Amino acid sequence: MNQLFDIQDFKQKSKQLLKLISEHLEQTVTEPTKKTLSWNEPDDELRFWKEFFKTGNIDDFFPEILKRTTHTHNPKYVGHQVGVTAPITLLTGMLSNLLNNGMAVYEMGMSPNAIERIVTEKLCKAIGYDSPSGGFLTSGGTLANLTALLSARKAKVPHDVWNLGHAQPLGIMVCEEAHYCVDRAAKIMGLGKKGIIKVPANRNFAIDVEQLETYYQRSIAKGIQIFAIVGSAPSTATGAYDDLEAIQQFAEKYNLWFHVDGAHGGAAIFSEKYTHLLKGAEKSDSMVIDGHKMMMMPTITTALLYRNKKHADHTFSINADYLLSETEEDEWYNSGRRTFECTKTMMCLHWYVLLKVYGEKVFGTYVTRQYDLGKEFEKLLLKEPDFEIATSPMSNILCFRYTDSNLSQEDLNEINTKVRQALLEDGEFYLVQTKLRGTLYLRTTLMNPFTTREHLESLLKKIRTRAKKLIPSRVRQ
Ligand SMILES: *Cc1c(COP(=O)(O)O)cnc(C)c1O
Repeated sequence: MNQLFDIQDFKQKSKQLLKLISEHLEQTVTEPTKKTLSWNEPDDELRFWKEFFKTGNIDDFFPEILKRTTHTHNPKYVGHQVGVTAPITLLTGMLSNLLNNGMAVYEMGMSPNAIERIVTEKLCKAIGYDSPSGGFLTSGGTLANLTALLSARKAKVPHDVWNLGHAQPLGIMVCEEAHYCVDRAAKIMGLGKKGIIKVPANRNFAIDVEQLETYYQRSIAKGIQIFAIVGSAPSTATGAYDDLEAIQQFAEKYNLWFHVDGAHGGAAIFSEKYTHLLKGAEKSDSMVIDGHKMMMMPTITTALLYRNKKHADHTFSINADYLLSETEEDEWYNSGRRTFECTKTMMCLHWYVLLKVYGEKVFGTYVTRQYDLGKEFEKLLLKEPDFEIATSPMSNILCFRYTDSNLSQEDLNEINTKVRQALLEDGEFYLVQTKLRGTLYLRTTLMNPFTTREHLESLLKKIRTRAKKLIPSRVRQ
């Protein structure tokens, strides 16, 4: 134990690590010629760390981790939706790790429970919820969506499913393009495949609101009781925002719980320019916003907000007819009653400190810049005859591909797949791929606040060079 808690040793090690981290930040942000990742095959990576465990020098551990991970702070990181962490949140993370107040009960997190309430109230206000709104922070959009759907079932299904289970088929409605975690949540809740009513997407990959009525009627005719509808803000693959206003009206008509999955783009509530995309969310019953996506926080922290906070209190309560028991004490400070987790990290520190030090404006500025960059990237692509986009971007997510009218769809799918693999192995840029209606697209999420048009131009150049080499010789002139 003495060795484990050798504070002098800690002082020295932490100094070294902080120096390394600061240097890494400086280099990735200001010297964007560096690689975003150094690709290794999974088996090679495994072999390396097995060998390191036996013979490696622990002083090399952090440098090796840095070498063998993907660097979101590099402006040429244009891949997944993972947040580019604001440096100050590295420090709040350390504080949380030190104090380890799990927050399930008030005494094990006096400050964080109070701080979380302040943060969630600010978020509710930004969404446009009236009081008595409220919510909490939880570990990820996936868990938050499941929790919201559990709240929805408790609120809208008259039968006491929580205590008695259910025999009657229940269902939720969601766009086919929604994040897979909604499907997973519904299956965990025992709704089964038939209980997930997948509404087709329109040409722009957002929910086709014209078809809501048909799909609803078809399901209730089969005896399925629908209790909730989920809107994506935006969906993951293409970044398309659903028409939340139309969904809200539909939900109201049939007394459904309206949940907004704003894991990625809920943060647009802070952007004057793009907040219109969330019109209708202010009338939702619940909404999810990930801190670790468009709010520059470390994984994993998600806000789940309710227009009526009473619903949050009763999701996991054994009391079935809660809406009648208004006298029940509002124990806001015992956050474990509302969350799926028993113990969670002091994630509220990131939100509170960012809001206190930089203000809501910093989120607005960031979202606006990244969404603007999406539009700029679209303009660039539209100018190039050998590139095409899947759909006009509504956010900072954009799907595009290299194209050539002499090539078949099959050839193009193959070329774009190979280009993406080549880029991965090259390591300068990091981007991903997705298949939309049978067509393979390269997919970028412009998360990094230092990515510029010039970076994107050089990315296209690189893709073109690679793609041209891959064109089958039978097609080449
Ligand atoms: C990322 C994402 C999720 C999942 O959130 P996690 O925090 O990764 O669990 C859910 N829905 C949407 C729309 C997302 O973009």
